[in-house]
This record gives sequence, C-alpha cells and structure tokens, in this order.
Amino acid sequence: MEKIGNLYLVATPIGNLEDITIRALNILKEVDLIAAEDTRHTLKLLNHFEISKPLISYYKQIEKSKSNILIQKLLEGKNIALVSDAGTPGISDPGEEIVNVAIQNNIKIIPVPGACAFVNALIASGLDTKEFTFVGFLSAQKKEKKDKLEELKYETKTLVFYEAPHKLLNTLSTICEVFGDRDIVLARELTKIHEEFIRGKISDVIRNMGEPKGEFVIIVKGNIITKKDVDIQNLNNLNIEEHYKYYENQGLDKKEIIKRVAKDRKINKNEVYKKFIN
Ligand code: SAM
Repeated sequence: MEKIGNLYLVATPIGNLEDITIRALNILKEVDLIAAEDTRHTLKLLNHFEISKPLISYYKQIEKSKSNILIQKLLEGKNIALVSDAGTPGISDPGEEIVNVAIQNNIKIIPVPGACAFVNALIASGLDTKEFTFVGFLSAQKKEKKDKLEELKYETKTLVFYEAPHKLLNTLSTICEVFGDRDIVLARELTKIHEEFIRGKISDVIRNMGEPKGEFVIIVKGNIITKKDVDIQNLNNLNIEEHYKYYENQGLDKKEIIKRVAKDRKINKNEVYKKFIN
C-alpha cells in the first residue's frame, strides 16, 4: 500500500527569530512542501535559516479549496508542514479546516510546539493562569462585539483577547463599558525589542496610552461576581411571596421551593415554611 504523508503543524516565532525549535527547523528542512499563510513572509524566515523548500499559499479565504489540494498531496505520500505568519497555526490563524479534513482521511497530524502569543502574555500577566478563556479576535461589527462581551461578562476565568493596534482603544472602551473597570494587562510586542506589559484598570490604561503601536494581547481579570450571584440577588430583591412564586412557576415541589428560598435569602427553612404552611 502506498504510504500516506504526515501533516505537521509547525509553530514559528512571534517576533524574535531565535524562538523556533530545532525540531521545527528539522521538519521544515525535511518535508516535501510548506503550506504558508503568506508565502513571502515565510520565505524570509526560510531564507534566514537557509532552508529552501517549495511553498504553497494557504490563507483563510481559500482554506476549503486549498485543503482539498493539500489532502490530495498528502494521500500521494507527500509530507507537508503548515505554518502561519507567526506563532501557532490554528490559533486565530488558518489550520482548523485542514486538520478536520486530514482526520477524515486518516492522515497523521503532528503538532510541532513553539511560540504562541497568548500563552506568553498570560503567563507573564500576573492574572490567574489556572483557568482561562481564550477568545481571540472579537468581531469588528459593533453589535456582534458587544453581544459577545455580554455573553462573557460573568465569566470568572481570566479572559484572553487578540486585537489589532488600530482597533485596540475602541475594544478596550467597549470591554470597560460592558464589564466595568476591571484589571487588565496588555502584552505588547512580545519577544521583540519593545516588549512591554501594561497593567492597571482599563480606564487608567486607556488614559495613559498614546497611539497604540505594535502587536497586543489583552488579558482581562475574570469577574468576581458570577451570573448565579446576580440571579440570587435579583430574587432576594423580590418579596418572599414573589420569590416563592418564581420557583413554583418552575414546577418545583413545596419542599424544594422552601429549601431554595431559605438558601437564597440565607434564612432558616422554618421561617419560610411558616409563611406558606396552609
Ligand atoms: N497564531 C498566532 C499565535 O500563535 O499567537 C496568532 C496570530 S493572530 C492572526 C495575530 C494576533 O496575535 C495579533 O493581532 C496580536 O493580538 C497577537 N500577537 C501576535 N504576535 C504578537 C506579539 N509579538 N506580541 C503581542 N501580540 C502578538
């Protein structure tokens, strides 16, 4: 049986060219073909490391059609490396589509780890790294952007966003408007000469910022109030009869309603029971 090629997902530097692994360089040297988001950009990287390889473009708008061409080549036995302009393919970059088609075709997928902007921003942020939600780019459309942020408002995990410099201030203002004035960290120009971390309340960061230049990751502290806290607060603002009715309308039995009302209002079950004894 003819041998099928491997699909390597190779991480490349996000600024500092020394941030590429020996394994990544060896794979780029050994594969038959490199699929790149921007072939001119990748050519510079390859030239720097004196690697000469055929390149094929693979960017967002042509992901579907190009995936089929690449899969054909993999099925013919060619080994292919997928790279993006910077960092890890598939993270706010093309990759997901070809990986799915490759899985359907029983092609072996081999990730080759390396730089990723958000991981490095997060680990140096000083915010909680135990649990986090990676959001990536928000929509450029005002309504979609706000809707997404509303959806994330009560997320207690650290939130991670990517943003282009010319949209940064607008995005920070919208985050502040929806989330309130939380602690944030901007990781700017990671691994490059002007690398810096800007920490503070969103309003202070906006106030002290000139025209944003370079690349940014936005890390936002998770909410300390959960959606459940807010819901309970709203129920506790009702009178006890309305509170009882709310659970009754959900079809709960009397015993369960009394238990919940007492728990929400932090009172003894007997107090609630006495009110609804008849
Ligand atoms: N695949 C990449 C990765 O692994 O991080 C991300 C690609 S995404 C198209 C580009 C975004 O990543 C930028 O707009 C910025 O938010 C972030 N980014 C990339 N390089 C960065 C750097 N050196 N410093 C800060 N942010 C960076």
